[in-house]
Amino acid sequence: SRATTAELVTQGLTVRFGGLTALSHANVRVKGGEVHALIGPNGAGKSTFVNAISGVYRPSEGAFGIDGEDLTGKSQHEIARLGLARTFQNTELFGELTVLENVLVGGQSRLRYGLVDALLRTPRRRREERELRAAAVGLLAFVGLTDHANEAARYLPFGLQRRLEIARALAARPRLLLLDEPAAGLTSQEIDELAAMIRKIAASGVSVLLIEHHVDLIMAVADTVTVLDYGQVIASDRPGVVQNDPRVIEAYFGS
Ligand code: ADP
Ligand code: MG
Repeated sequence: SRATTAELVTQGLTVRFGGLTALSHANVRVKGGEVHALIGPNGAGKSTFVNAISGVYRPSEGAFGIDGEDLTGKSQHEIARLGLARTFQNTELFGELTVLENVLVGGQSRLRYGLVDALLRTPRRRREERELRAAAVGLLAFVGLTDHANEAARYLPFGLQRRLEIARALAARPRLLLLDEPAAGLTSQEIDELAAMIRKIAASGVSVLLIEHHVDLIMAVADTVTVLDYGQVIASDRPGVVQNDPRVIEAYFGS
């Protein structure tokens, strides 16, 4: 089985929409097992970056890969299978399914049994399904949702739905987990809990790319902060260094 620790590298990654360059020659390196925050003013290109590396948008120029494996031009599905899992800015759960079932769906891509196993319910299929279920139960415990396992996802309070999304993404056993504004709409206590969860995920060897506005959360969890402005990377360093970078201060507070 492959190592979980992944390095995402983008080289000259560029996305154009007609005449607008939303992302311009971005070189970003997310080191294995680190929490890497991607920040920048509205319209800076953060979502475009995320959509490019998850296969939603096809880059106009440049390349990207995980652990040296080139992913440029691959489909969303292939990229997910090769180890990149993401959550969305707006939660996209299966509301009618239970909490546990949502996590099981997240792990479906890991099932390896073939058509014959599927039709005949072979021991192989039963074993894989047992393993998937055990992993899903473990993930629910990790995100603190064990007591809600059998409730329909749509009845969960908002903060818990966000956690469920993280559990579902982790069920695919990603090498890189991409979190798009996970703190949006959370209380300050929920944000503290989220920070602890993100640190644990990174400590387990899964690299985390965090798109976030919430400065306290970034300072609490990020090993590296990359700043985008008008589609360009203007800084990429430790949080304490980036915070004092004149170009970054200008991008956020300049006129
Ligand atoms: P951020 O997520 O940092 O707020 P975005 O990546 O959403 O920024 O947007 C970067 C720029 O690209 C903006 O000017 C935005 O209007 C433009 N843009 C984003 N997506 C599209 C699209 N699908 N079609 C046209 N323009 C887009
Ligand atoms: Mg955005």
